Amino acid sequence: MMKKQVLIPLYMKSFACIGSECEDTCCAGWGISIDKKTYKKYKSVKHPTLTNLLNKGMKRIKNDTASDVKYASFILDAKTAACPMLDENKLCRIQLNLGEKALCSTCTTYPRVVNQVDSTIELSAKLSCPEIARLALLNPDGIEFEQLEFDINSDWGLNYRLNTQHPRFAEQLFWGLRMFSIEIIQNRSMKIGDRLIFLGIFINNVQQKLDNNQLDVVPHIIEEYRMKMNHPDYINSLEKISISTTFQVKMIIEMVQIRNNMGISNERYTKCLNEMIQGLNIQEQVGIELSDLEKVYIENYKQFYQPFLEKYEYILENYLVNYLYESLFPNTSSNKIFEDYTKICILFSVLKMHMIGISGFHKNLTPEYAVFIIQNFSRVIEHNTTYLVQISKLFKENGFDTLAHLATLVKDKNM
Ligand code: SF4
Repeated sequence: MMKKQVLIPLYMKSFACIGSECEDTCCAGWGISIDKKTYKKYKSVKHPTLTNLLNKGMKRIKNDTASDVKYASFILDAKTAACPMLDENKLCRIQLNLGEKALCSTCTTYPRVVNQVDSTIELSAKLSCPEIARLALLNPDGIEFEQLEFDINSDWGLNYRLNTQHPRFAEQLFWGLRMFSIEIIQNRSMKIGDRLIFLGIFINNVQQKLDNNQLDVVPHIIEEYRMKMNHPDYINSLEKISISTTFQVKMIIEMVQIRNNMGISNERYTKCLNEMIQGLNIQEQVGIELSDLEKVYIENYKQFYQPFLEKYEYILENYLVNYLYESLFPNTSSNKIFEDYTKICILFSVLKMHMIGISGFHKNLTPEYAVFIIQNFSRVIEHNTTYLVQISKLFKENGFDTLAHLATLVKDKNM
């Protein structure tokens, strides 16, 4: 460990892995890539039980994604999706027998996300870790950030490096766009769905300027939208937008089905999924009329989700802020910032569908259960880049990647 100047969300200061007390397993259900150096080290381990387990439990990655960082992966259990190195108490045998130093970069780093923006290290974490999810989501005051000296492990893998000093491209706009995006999502004078719509209007406007290579006007747009955000008439006009829940329900069900068809082996998420299906009264074998589904959806919304939102909207705000921060939104390197926004709307609307369905199943939604849903959603849906790419493609092909369609997806219905 060494001390470094780091920008962190404050919850990171309180985080410590709870190890065997943890109700989940770090690696459950997602691919654990092993870097080349660690793979070679594991191949040469001489240990009465580990040698065989390691040899049988690893496989080389031989597709287009292969690199020295993604050199091999552990073969997860077909049924439980557990890592083969876990013992009966769900503890990692590599760590137990060879020490923390022997872990591959993925396992040493998780649940942390380490980015570097210019010379500053940014540290945050994945909500798929239950302890992080509790710390980050359950804070009613919202996520705050601080620059301070912090212990950094040199073995933690770097997720992304961004240079904002690039003279020609939009990277130079990153800080202004990022700060204002987080400011919008934390603006509590709007409902959470309206905050996302406002963000979309803003990002759409900036995207047009980027497309026309008018980078110099972007700081003025930020100021213009900051003024709009403080204007009650403008905010009221957003609130009054009315939407069709039919499109919302149809699209979200389709998105959930695509994920299911990809196969899900995570037990905790399967519980969420089954509760959502039952809470929305979807009889899979018989099929369900969209109008019936919409009725159940609206009923759950009114009875359980809306009262939850009235008290605990900050949980969804914290979810979004954490995502914006750790994913370095908006991706100014590609200049396709509206595509990034589309991904957020997809994630948010699918998450909302889970919450509405599950609230109907339990006839209630508590903050603790909302954290459980988000943690498992984050592990199975958010960690799956193939899924997000597939849905984004579906949106593009159908012309749904427009502001009007996305607003319909994320807007909370005025009941
Ligand atoms: S999921 Fe989080 S708290 Fe649980 S064992 Fe992993 S790092 Fe620790």
